Amino acid sequence: MGQAHIVHRSDITVLEPLLTIKGLKVYYFSRSNIIKAVDDVCLEILHNGSLGLAGESGCGKTTLGTALLRSISSPGRIVEGSIILDGKDISTISDRDFDRLIRWKKIAMVFQGAMNSLTPVFTVGKQMKEILDEHQFTGNVSNAISESLSQVLLDDSIVGKYPHELSGGQKQRIIIAMALLLKPQILIADEPTTSLDVIVQAQVINLFKRLKKTGLSIIFISHDLSVISELAETVGIMYAGQLVELGSTRAVYSNPKHPYTQKLIATIPRIKDKDNSLQFLKGKPPDMADLEKGCRFLDRCSFAMEVCNKDPPFFEYENVKVRCWLYK
Ligand code: SF4
Repeated sequence: MGQAHIVHRSDITVLEPLLTIKGLKVYYFSRSNIIKAVDDVCLEILHNGSLGLAGESGCGKTTLGTALLRSISSPGRIVEGSIILDGKDISTISDRDFDRLIRWKKIAMVFQGAMNSLTPVFTVGKQMKEILDEHQFTGNVSNAISESLSQVLLDDSIVGKYPHELSGGQKQRIIIAMALLLKPQILIADEPTTSLDVIVQAQVINLFKRLKKTGLSIIFISHDLSVISELAETVGIMYAGQLVELGSTRAVYSNPKHPYTQKLIATIPRIKDKDNSLQFLKGKPPDMADLEKGCRFLDRCSFAMEVCNKDPPFFEYENVKVRCWLYK
């Protein structure tokens, strides 16, 4: 899970996580419905750790990332839970202080498809400077821009270019460089390789591997399990707003425990398998506006039992946390 900060307290040694999420709930409210987009999620990420969040579209992984940046749009909001960064509960601080102290400075996010939102009429340099100005950056602007460009392996010659003069890979690097401008401790990357061609995807994956070595903690959100297996040491599998399995990527991929994770892993095509027919996950996730009591995977699960009509808590099994009654 990356390099931990070791804190000595009298005679005990404690591994301090950089970020701890406890019982986080993010709900969307309409006149007639409540959509529990993120429901009771607990996670932690160590200093220099990397965490992958995987699951089908609509499972809550992007909402979770956006909640960490306090950027949930109305009618959604965080209704419960705490987010502790470096020992401080940042879920209770005012919006003004969050903007001033946390957003982009401690936690930054590369949003899905952000490379398409570069302003076509401004140069790269101007758009990067705008971010620094917005955050009342007081250091040397040119140096800060050069430094973050070099982190993504681009040189200063790109600052005078307009977005239409850049390749897809360069645009994605610029977006990552923008997120790194204020030297955050945590970078959240939402589907960072989606819609890139395979060669550019490989370049972006290598770039993230390099960034991990700089001490940055990274949360990768992706529906692509192979991207997560390349980049994240820990993986959290989400289903219908809940985390259903959490453990080291190696353990979860080699021996998935939750029936949903097992199905998800089985959908990864394997070249070496003799039986190379594609696997599908039958059925569909529950209606998030009309959740029944009990396990949310119940309708699609081949192991369902009587007890599954009750919400399963997390059980610890072979160093993996799994939200399933099979592991009681
Ligand atoms: Fe299947 Fe029951 Fe486990 Fe849910 S709790 S995944 S229904 S066995």
